[in-house]
Order: sequence, then C-alpha cells, then structure tokens
Amino acid sequence: MNINSHPVINECTSCQMCSAVCSRNAIAIRLNEDGFYRPYVDEIICTDCGLCTLVCYKYDNDIKVTSSEDVEKIDVYSAQHVSDTLLEKVTSGGVADVLAKELIDQGFVCVGVTYNEDNHRAEHIMASTIRETDAFRGSKYIQSYSVDAFKYLVKNIRTTKFAVFGLPCHIYAINKFLMLRNQRDNCILVDLFCHGCPSMHLWTKYEQDIKRLVGNKKFDDVQFRSKVKGWGTFHVAIGIDGKNAFVSTPRKDEFYSLFFSDMVLNDACSDCLLRSTMEYTDIRLGDFWGKRYLNNKKGVSAVAIVSERGEQVFKAIMDSFKTEKSSMKEVLVKQSYGIVYSPDSTIRKMLLDALKDKDKSLKGIEELYYSKQGFIPNLKRLIKLIDWYLPFNFTNFLKRFA
Ligand SMILES: Cc1cc2nc3c(=O)[nH]c(=O)nc-3n(C[C@H](O)[C@H](O)[C@H](O)COP(=O)(O)OP(=O)(O)OC[C@H]3O[C@@H](n4cnc5c(N)ncnc54)[C@H](O)[C@@H]3O)c2cc1C
Ligand code: SF4
Ligand code: SF4
Ligand code: SF4
Repeated sequence: MNINSHPVINECTSCQMCSAVCSRNAIAIRLNEDGFYRPYVDEIICTDCGLCTLVCYKYDNDIKVTSSEDVEKIDVYSAQHVSDTLLEKVTSGGVADVLAKELIDQGFVCVGVTYNEDNHRAEHIMASTIRETDAFRGSKYIQSYSVDAFKYLVKNIRTTKFAVFGLPCHIYAINKFLMLRNQRDNCILVDLFCHGCPSMHLWTKYEQDIKRLVGNKKFDDVQFRSKVKGWGTFHVAIGIDGKNAFVSTPRKDEFYSLFFSDMVLNDACSDCLLRSTMEYTDIRLGDFWGKRYLNNKKGVSAVAIVSERGEQVFKAIMDSFKTEKSSMKEVLVKQSYGIVYSPDSTIRKMLLDALKDKDKSLKGIEELYYSKQGFIPNLKRLIKLIDWYLPFNFTNFLKRFA
C-alpha cells in the first residue's frame, strides 16, 4: 500500500510528508495541473512498505476533533510585541518570530517558511541561528514547498530537537511521524489558524503581473500582508533595491479577491478537519480578529496554548508582549475553525482552468468570478474600493455593525 492506494477518506493537503518519510525516495513532489503540490510515486522503486500512508491525512479515518467543551478550556491570550519596529515586519503581533528565537536559544533547530524569490515560491527551511529565523517573518499566503526541510527532519530526528512552524496540515503530518518514532516529547509544534491555501497558478500569474508593472526586476522583499494600510487589511507589498516598489490596491488585488472567493483553494481546504482541531499542536497562532482590537493598526496575535510544552515556551517570551487574557470563544468568532466551504464546482473548475491558461489575464479571471456573483459580493468589492480612497477606515467602521 502506498499513497496512490484506494479508497481514500480525505483529500490531499499538499503537506509533502509522504515524500519526506520514504527512505527509497520513491515519491517526487510536483505541482499538478491545477497548481497544487502532489506526490508522484515511482511504482518500480516503491516496496509497498506503507510508511507514507501512516503519516497521511488521506487515509486517517480517526482524526481527533477537539470537543467544544475541551476547546473552551484552552488558555488563550492576545499578544502584541512591545517594539513597533518588529510589528512592521510581522503579520500579526509578532509571536511566531519571538517564539522561534527563544526556541533557538533553548537548543532547538527551527523549521519555518521563507519566500524564495529565485524559485518564486514559499519554502520550509531550517534555522539554527537567531538571525536565520528572520526569514520566517510574515505569512506567505500560498502552499510552501516543504519536502527538503521535512526530509532533513526525518533524517536527523534521533539526534536533534526540532521546533516546527506550519499550517495545521503540516503539523498534523509531522506529529504523526514523531509519534511513530517516539520523538514527540523532544519537539515543539506551532501551527496557525488557517483559512486555506490557493492554487500556485494564482500566485504565479499575480507575480508575473507585478513584474511587468515594476520592469521585470528581482524582488528583494515580498510581504503578503503589508501593514501599509494598517493591520487587518490584505495588501501585497514588494521591495526592490531596498525601496517600496509595489503595493496592491483594490484595483490590483486579484490575488486576495480570488483567495477569499474560496473557489481556488486546495481540494482539502474546503472541508479540512485539521484547521478545526487542536489535537496535534502545542501552540496555535493567528490574528486576533474581532471587535476588541478593531482600531488597532499595528497587529495583535491570538495565542492558543494547547500543551504544557507550549505553555512553558510562551511563558518564557511573555514579557516581550502586551498581553490580555481571552478565550477560544472570543477568538473563533472570526476564524474558519469549524467552517466548511462549498464552492460551486462549475465555477471552481472554470476559474482553475482559466488560471492555467497562459493567455487569460488575472483581471479577466477576477471579472469572470464577479460576473457569477450576486449583489452582496459585488457591493463588498465596491466598499473595499471606496475604503482605499477614504481618509478613515470605513470598512472597520462598518465591521462594528457586523
Ligand atoms: C496560508 C495561511 C493562512 C492563514 N490563515 C489564517 C486565518 O484564517 N486566521 C488567522 O488568524 N491567521 C491565519 N494565518 C496566520 C497569520 O497570518 C499569521 O501567520 C499568524 O498570526 C502569525 O503571525 P505573527 O505576527 O505571530 O508572526 P509572523 O512573523 O508573521 O510569522 C509567520 C509564521 O508563519 C509561518 N509561515 C509563513 N508562511 C507560511 C506558509 N505558507 N505555510 C506555513 N507556515 C507559514 C512562518 O514560518 C512563521 O513562523 C494564516 C497564515 C497562512 C500562511
Ligand atoms: S496529504 Fe500529505 S502525506 Fe498525504 S498524499 Fe498528500 S502530500 Fe502526501
Ligand atoms: S510505500 Fe514505502 S517505499 Fe512505497 S512510496 Fe510509500 S514509503 Fe516509499
Ligand atoms: S485549510 Fe489549511 S490546514 Fe487545512 S488543508 Fe488547507 S492549508 Fe492545510
């Protein structure tokens, strides 16, 4: 049995752990035609040992979903780093960055995600010095290529303590592997509240558009969620030669328009059980959405402390943050936790087909999406546009009544 075997229970999350655990190197990871990372098995090399299936979400019919009673018992804090300089570089309140640095100090090798401009993709990489963890700063709202870093972890798990940062699907698969090897107690796992990951074709087209706008120059800084208009907004910002070269506006925002349509996310993201359970991680981080910090422009993290290990490491960094006690009930109101998306399969296929068509413009694909929507999504789009030109944050004002 290998990861091509049937029947499967869940869709592939693109976590790539199957490839990392295969000692025969029988699994290559490539983008499929819709732009999602998928495993390709060389059946001649494969010995049918079945190890890849043991870390894989597709075959797990016993995903542990935390009961609502237990979810409410989880300790949750809001946290905002005391330094404004750091807050400019991170997506929310900066907890992931400080955690990684603390864990390096405690002797862990950290595994987190950087954006590799040469490969035009997000990648999991290793950091064994504090400076190397700077590359993890900021969320990259695309799937990461993780197989090389995960292979390193698999190879060195008996001699090295790892701290892994990733989405719930990464952390689930790493946790499964660590349990199999009896090494869970030596590692710290930190995951993120997760909306989902879009087709890589969406990012590739968007990146190509930006390159055309800025004169096909090499990007030296890619911020998927710049705080140029404050935290809580979704603006891509690109730096070239140390200067701001591009910031997305509602007129050039096809990446997030289509991302939040939920139409072009990975197959597993629609009914993902992993973003809706707290069973596999030590700490879950996210944006502290909701009414409490609606006027905060710098960024506030939500920190859910799931295990004792998680508690110890968060306590060690707490002094660097302004924190307030909260609850999962408050945090989950604006998260995708427990939510299932039901994208219209015809529109989804139409959009995915358009994204892989080199002759179709992203603007045209965005228009195609809105032409299939009713009054409310088109009204929201108009409000976003007006908001950009207003001196005060009109959208946040409206959110007070939501
Ligand atoms: C695809 C995606 C979807 C998300 N959806 C939500 C959501 O619905 N709700 C919510 O509250 N928060 C979501 N987040 C998390 C949020 O954007 C912040 O990453 C989180 O609040 C931590 O911010 P920070 O300021 O503490 O640290 P930052 O310095 O911003 O740290 C970012 C951390 O995320 C890791 N990371 C970056 N990109 C990726 C990636 N592509 N895959 C895996 N790990 C990555 C880095 O290694 C680093 O540890 C999402 C993040 C991603 C990448
Ligand atoms: S879910 Fe992960 S482990 Fe399973 S097939 Fe997909 S990439 Fe491989
Ligand atoms: S069954 Fe074993 S040998 Fe075959 S792909 Fe999976 S891990 Fe590799
Ligand atoms: S919703 Fe998030 S955790 Fe679930 S499969 Fe998609 S990217 Fe992974």
